[in-house]
Amino acid sequence: MSVAARKIRLLMELRRGGVVDTRVLAAIERTPRELFVPETFQDQAYEDQALPIGRGQTISQPLVVGLMTQALEVGERMKVLEIGTGSGYQAAILARLCRRLYTIERHKPLVKEAEERFKALRLHNITAIAGDGMKGWPEQAPFDRIMVTAAATEIPQALVDQLDVGGILVIPVGSDGYAQDLIKLVKTEAGMTRESFLPVRFVPLLPGVAEE
Ligand code: SAH
Repeated sequence: MSVAARKIRLLMELRRGGVVDTRVLAAIERTPRELFVPETFQDQAYEDQALPIGRGQTISQPLVVGLMTQALEVGERMKVLEIGTGSGYQAAILARLCRRLYTIERHKPLVKEAEERFKALRLHNITAIAGDGMKGWPEQAPFDRIMVTAAATEIPQALVDQLDVGGILVIPVGSDGYAQDLIKLVKTEAGMTRESFLPVRFVPLLPGVAEE
């Protein structure tokens, strides 16, 4: 099967799985996932599964990327923060939907590789840094949207603080490290609304910057 045919098949699977927002589907269609996965997994780039990207980390399953992106309700004038750059795939998709995308990763080599991919794809509205995403990015706050792509045991308060009123935060939360739920938190004048919308399994959100 050709790459184009595999891609169409994947997009149909995502639609069937509940990704119906046409802007999200278009952003996924325009982002070559094969550029974000290691050489040895090239033939699986358009399968609906997570894949290893080195340093014990993974690129998320496309359906989860689609559902999380859809839940974030990103608008084209928005400033968005992602925690857990990983391969940069999720960041690349978000960057096509918003004005400016900030992304933080605790493994420096992953940041470097992701930046090269952003450059190759001419995604000039992304700023990536190595750091502890649990602390957010106070200098750039507030954010209209925040997405965390590593599992937290509790929602980091710094991220809630750096979310604008009217803002949405999407984050996998779980206590045992294996099973988590995707939480969508909406910050309002009156406080916060919180709903859980999908069981998932992400690598853990860890404090500090990783040692090389
Ligand atoms: N969004 C990525 C997949 C994320 S995997 C993609 O599209 O490929 C989760 C990533 O979160 C891992 O790379 C891990 O190193 C990173 N991570 C974990 N804790 C973190 C923290 N406190 N700050 C920043 N990144 C973190």
